[in-house]
Amino acid sequence: MNPQLLFWIPAVLRLLLVLCGAAVVWAFFGVVAGLSAAFLAVTVLAFLQLYYLNRLDSWLDNPDSEKMPDGFGSWTDVFARLYKMRRDDERNQAELTEWLARFRQAMSRLPDGVVIMDDVLFLEWCNPTAQAHLGLDMERDKGMRVTNLIRHPAFMDYIILGRYEQPLTLSLRGRKLVVHIIPFENRRQILVTHDATESERIDMMRRDFIANASHELRTPLTVINGFLEIAGSQSNLDMTTRQAHIKLMSEQGQRMQNLVGDMLTLSRLESADLPLHAEKVSIKPLLEQILREANALSAGRHAISLTVDGPDIKGNIEELRSAFTNLVTNAIRYTPAPGKIDLAWQETEEGAQFAVRDSGIGISSEHLARLTERFYRVDKSRSRETQGTGLGLAIVKHVLLRHHGELVIQSVADQGSTFIAKFPKSSIYY
Ligand code: ADP
Repeated sequence: MNPQLLFWIPAVLRLLLVLCGAAVVWAFFGVVAGLSAAFLAVTVLAFLQLYYLNRLDSWLDNPDSEKMPDGFGSWTDVFARLYKMRRDDERNQAELTEWLARFRQAMSRLPDGVVIMDDVLFLEWCNPTAQAHLGLDMERDKGMRVTNLIRHPAFMDYIILGRYEQPLTLSLRGRKLVVHIIPFENRRQILVTHDATESERIDMMRRDFIANASHELRTPLTVINGFLEIAGSQSNLDMTTRQAHIKLMSEQGQRMQNLVGDMLTLSRLESADLPLHAEKVSIKPLLEQILREANALSAGRHAISLTVDGPDIKGNIEELRSAFTNLVTNAIRYTPAPGKIDLAWQETEEGAQFAVRDSGIGISSEHLARLTERFYRVDKSRSRETQGTGLGLAIVKHVLLRHHGELVIQSVADQGSTFIAKFPKSSIYY
């Protein structure tokens, strides 16, 4: 039935009942008594309405569903419906608050910054990442114009031109940021910030690596091509010259082979798909073999000693052989004759270590931090003269990283160097 009728029928019936009562009084006690009874009854009803109206009014000041007053007559229905509406309202509000909290939490975990602005770029809200990227402070900056907060000429131009289809790359507060404005809801805009510092650094490293590798390969190739041209154009070369050319060409060929070999080793070590196959590595025979090779390479120009006073470790023998050999051959290459080179394997408080000490040319302190960078050399010509690729220490660093170890370099120019490959206790094979 129509709810309006449900409201009116009982109200009219109640009024009729009162009037009937007054009519009965009129019949028994006369007209004055009847009218007085009717007046009294209507007045009581009117006061009752005023009473409930007043309760409704005070409830509206603090509309809590728990404090909803009980009603009488038609008011029962009015209060019941108000109660239901209020409960639905409270439930929706609770859901909305919960959703908002979840949204804020998700936004605060985002690795990208999000700034919400109105149509004239006044800051409404931003997540913590955006605060860190752009140096904003929600408490301080809310309601301020974003162009007054991010003072960067390129950002100003981006806003003025309004070409928001493309993102903009900014150097801001020591970071490379990719910022993008996305209009939404007609009158609002979102500013998204993405920190591209790391990917930019990796990109630059990759570009540098390709440029360096090409440069390293071009030199021996030019030499070989030059000699081949001479051999092709001059058929009357004497045997000694011919032999000298062949020797130089094979040296350059060897250089390219070393370089390509080291590049392949590095890329294999860096590949995330290649997990470390750790097995027992017997250190003594490994280092004794490296010592034999070192003596052969030195050809009597250095006094090389070996002390093994430490445990075997868990690791990949080929990777460790490559790292240790790099350190030892460097010591030979950078130590003029007659030189002294000491190799020592020891157990330490932190685990175990392989130290290579030489009495060579040493390295001045400003170079130390960069030695493990690919193709970084203190003296380019000396490195090339001795068939260096510039990748040896980068390989050592990666091998040690894969074994949870680290490379420590101590050196004094003109006095000698000590390269220490340190391994943690967890590497020791018990
Ligand atoms: P390279 O093939 O040029 O030797 P590495 O990566 O092995 O490349 O070494 C990087 C640079 O570190 C070398 O060019 C050299 O300048 C310096 N270096 C490495 N080992 C020694 C050492 N034992 N004594 C002095 N300098 C060294």
